[in-house]
Parts: sequence; C-alpha cells; structure tokens
Amino acid sequence: MTEIRETVILGSGCAGLTAALYTARAGLNPLVLEGHEPGGQLSITTLVENFPGWPEGIQGPELIENIKKQAARFGASYEHAQLNLVELGAGPIKLHTSNGKIETRTLIIASGASARWLGLPSEQALIGHGVSSCATCDGFFFRDKEIAVVGGGDSAMEEAMFLSRFASKITLLHRREAFRASKIMLDRAKANPKIEMLTNTVVEDVLGVDEKEVKGLRLRDVATGKESLLKVSGLFLGIGHEPNTKPFVGKIDLDEEGYIRTTKNVFTTWEGEIVRGVFACGDVQDRRYRQAITAAGSGCMAALEVEKHLEG
Ligand code: NAP
Repeated sequence: MTEIRETVILGSGCAGLTAALYTARAGLNPLVLEGHEPGGQLSITTLVENFPGWPEGIQGPELIENIKKQAARFGASYEHAQLNLVELGAGPIKLHTSNGKIETRTLIIASGASARWLGLPSEQALIGHGVSSCATCDGFFFRDKEIAVVGGGDSAMEEAMFLSRFASKITLLHRREAFRASKIMLDRAKANPKIEMLTNTVVEDVLGVDEKEVKGLRLRDVATGKESLLKVSGLFLGIGHEPNTKPFVGKIDLDEEGYIRTTKNVFTTWEGEIVRGVFACGDVQDRRYRQAITAAGSGCMAALEVEKHLEG
C-alpha cells in the first residue's frame, strides 16, 4: 500500500520553505519537492538587504539554507524531484514525479516563476556577478555605475526607472523598433535623463567572464548587422517571467499568462470552484509584488490553510 502523506510542497524557494516550516511545526511531516531550481530565485541573488531581521543584509543562498534547516529541525524532508503529472479529484492527490509516485491529502504549489534569460553562456556565467534579473534586489550595488537593461515591456521600463536612482547612466536595449510597454511607462522612461534607448539592438555577448565581473556588452544592430561594444558594469534582464505551472494546465484555473488564480489569498480553483486541499503561494500566483517577504507570508498562509483543511 502506498503511504498517503499529509502534505507535499512543490518548490523550495521562500514560499515553499516557509510553508514547510509551518507545516513541520504543526507535525505534518511535509515533503518538499525541490524542483529544477532548488532554493528558487533567492538562490541566484547575492546580498538581500530588505528581508527583515538582518540589519547588515544576508546572502540569498544563505537565507534559503537557513529556512531550509529551520524547517528540517521540525521534521520537513526534501527530495530532488520534479513533478511531471498531477491527478486531482476524489481521494488523495496523486503526484507523478521524476522519482516515482506520491500520494498526499494536501498540496501546496510554490513552484515560483522563473525569470527569462537571453540564454548566452556568458550571461549565465555572470549571474550574480553583474548580471541580474531583479532590479529591486541588486540595483543598490550599481551606485554611480553605467549599466544596461534589456527588454521593451513594462518590466524593462520599471527596472530602468528604478535603477536610475542608483546608476549614473542606463542604456535600455530593445530588439525591435516598437515597444511593448504601455505608453505611460514608456513616456516616463523616455523623459528620464539618465536613460538612453537603443532599439533594434540585441546582446551578442557579455564581456568579463574571465574577470568574473561584467565589463561590457557586444551588441548587434539587427537592422544593419553592425556590431559595437558598450562599456557597462551591470546587465539587467527585464524580458519577463514564466510561472512554473505546466502540470496544472487544465486542472486548476490559471490566468492568461499561466499564473495560478487564487482566491482568499491561497485557495486554488477549477472553473471557479475551490479545489479542496490544493493551495498556491509565492510567485507562482503573484506577479505584482514578487518579494521574498511576500512569498514567505503567503507560504505561511497556505500552511495554515492546510492545517485547517486536515483538521476538517
Ligand atoms: P512582456 O510584456 O512580455 O515584455 C517582455 C519584453 O522583453 C518584450 O519587449 C520582448 O520583446 C522582450 N524580450 C522577450 N524575450 C526576449 C529575448 N530573448 N531577447 C530580447 N528581448 C526579449 O513582459 P513584462 O515587461 O515582464 O510584463 C509582463 C506583464 O506584467 C505585462 O502585462 C505588463 O504590463 C505587466 N507589468 C506591469 C507593470 C506596471 O504596470 N507597473 C510593471 C511590470 C510588468 P518583444 O517586444 O520584441 O516581444
């Protein structure tokens, strides 16, 4: 007979681990499936200065490791596995993972959203060393420096404007002539004297891999094919995020961009009706705030709802 677990948590970022801590302290022996990016987005940032409780800041990976240990102390366990298929319906929830089948009475979806990257090897090598996808997290480190932001949507405009508080100059690079951003955001960015826009421009390479810090970018004008060098010490990607919700398509309600639609903070629905025992928290259901602390807060809410559901 397959053991039926009380709760399984998908994702090991701030939301999932906070849910693990709370459900573990409630004696529910949560199992956390760590997913393809263990530790979530915090694990690829450097110094986190806006998580309450660390007056000097804390490294993202260390913060994650701390919460992981804290939850493990109360009985949370972890598995490197990915969810391939989920069966929701009458009886226990069935999870088909890369490690086998699991049955559980409740499920907390905290699988997050992954930032989109350009996919260049040099970009990947320099993440956390001048390449970032989070202006709020890392902008502060670029005081009086020249940096570049890639993207033509609202995120890129927002990042560029936020970064203009710190950086001395921002070059916004967009691959087309027309912008996807709303007029108001675009107008604001255009009016900002620190922001210069280069359209029809793509990043071919990030320079500085050997030095382990961003030294500049090799750019290509897609209209003329002409290449050029841009000297910057930071590169921010503002090309969007993708929620990790593939196994839930057609099983719980998602919005037009694939984020989980929640009701009463963390309850999931299918065709408008609450799906009992399945909760969602963190970035997978939040594209507005996307902060470690808000993810942790919603992870706590999901855990408390799991407890209530199991009591009922
Ligand atoms: P988005 O609207 O999908 O824009 C992504 C941008 O990145 C597009 O300009 C796209 O170029 C570019 N891009 C994508 N992949 C690329 C690649 N591989 N190389 C180069 N460029 C690439 O995403 P978003 O800006 O994150 O916005 C998502 C949603 O959140 C939108 O509905 C937006 O309005 C909303 N949002 C609102 C606010 C606000 O109102 N304060 C702030 C942020 C986001 P193309 O245009 O050529 O496709």
